[in-house]
Amino acid sequence: MSDRPFLPFALPEIGEAEIAEVVDTLRSGWVTTGPKARRFEQDFAAFLGDASLEAVAVNSATAGLHLALEGLGIGPGDEVITTTHTFTATAEVVRYLGADVVLVDIDPATLNIDPARVEAAITPATRAIVPVHYAGLAAPMDEILAIARRHGLKVVEDAAHALPATHGGALVGTLGSDATVFSFYANKTITTGEGGMVVSRNADLVKRMKVMRLHGISRDAFDRFTSTAPAWAYEIVAPGFKYNLTDIAAALGIHQLKRAREFRETREAVARRYREAMAGLPVLAPPDAPDGETHAWHLYVLRLADDAGVARDRYIERLFALGIGVSVHYIPLHLHPYWRERYGLRAEQFPHSQHAYERMLSLPIYPKMGEADVDRVVHAVRHALVARD
Ligand SMILES: *Cc1c(COP(=O)(O)O)cnc(C)c1O
Repeated sequence: MSDRPFLPFALPEIGEAEIAEVVDTLRSGWVTTGPKARRFEQDFAAFLGDASLEAVAVNSATAGLHLALEGLGIGPGDEVITTTHTFTATAEVVRYLGADVVLVDIDPATLNIDPARVEAAITPATRAIVPVHYAGLAAPMDEILAIARRHGLKVVEDAAHALPATHGGALVGTLGSDATVFSFYANKTITTGEGGMVVSRNADLVKRMKVMRLHGISRDAFDRFTSTAPAWAYEIVAPGFKYNLTDIAAALGIHQLKRAREFRETREAVARRYREAMAGLPVLAPPDAPDGETHAWHLYVLRLADDAGVARDRYIERLFALGIGVSVHYIPLHLHPYWRERYGLRAEQFPHSQHAYERMLSLPIYPKMGEADVDRVVHAVRHALVARD
């Protein structure tokens, strides 16, 4: 066992500016959705640098994915194609709407959804594609958008890992899909504790999402009345949801967003150090972004080589014994009982995801890590490969 303190897999980096802004919110008397949520939305759209985009703040990326697909009209009888190699939130929202999920395999080089598999999975019932920018490396959006155009499909990007990442030199969020959804969960690249943001250029979709994120209350109706009537008047136009982001959370987001580029550079430096220090070991480093592109480095996913001499599960136990927190992203959806049984899935249908899953582990990668922490992980990775137990 290690006598040093346990190095967690993930830790948020919350500064004094975030804390002061939260305190200011608490003192202001306005703690739920209000001026700070609005400011966070405006700052977020400005961060993406595309004036045609609107940002809609929500209380999770899961909520954002649900709102986007709902607003695009996905419902019973429809099929939505996504990757098996993701977190269940990407797919569960499709089931909320009574539509069906069609899972496809990944490209073994990038671990992102394979466009050829997407195209092969299209049926007359297909309505949408939900690519995930796995680990912060942008999915092949040119190909996915081209497939969507050819077949008249909607595209909603799960960008929970991808702030900030680029594809074709443009930031994820500006690539031309119907909607892009970011997560500010505790371990994501910036955090509001819980939170998310949907961005879209589709004004009708944005309007629908704003109504549905707060109980189906029509702002138009509300605004029509507020000029002449007291503030109690409103109209319910649909059975909406409770997905609004609080100003307490937005206060964190406003300052986290200002640090998003600096955070990414720190994580990239960790990734670079890992790659260099682990060269020559029987491990496969994660793919880097193509030249000129930005990887968000939410995750650093290492894969054990077949000649590593240790199975993945045992290897993770050794790292924990050395005081290093690691994780696995992900147990593919096709292995979970709900998805497996609902769609009668078998691992052989997803050979690349299965192969990667059996060998992968995610190493700590976050701005709070010091050089000594990074060196400690490198040392443990080496040591756990040669350990005898
Ligand atoms: C974290 C995550 C989500 C869900 O984000 P929440 O903000 O926790 O709802 C969705 N998809 C992927 C790929 C994620 O990693």
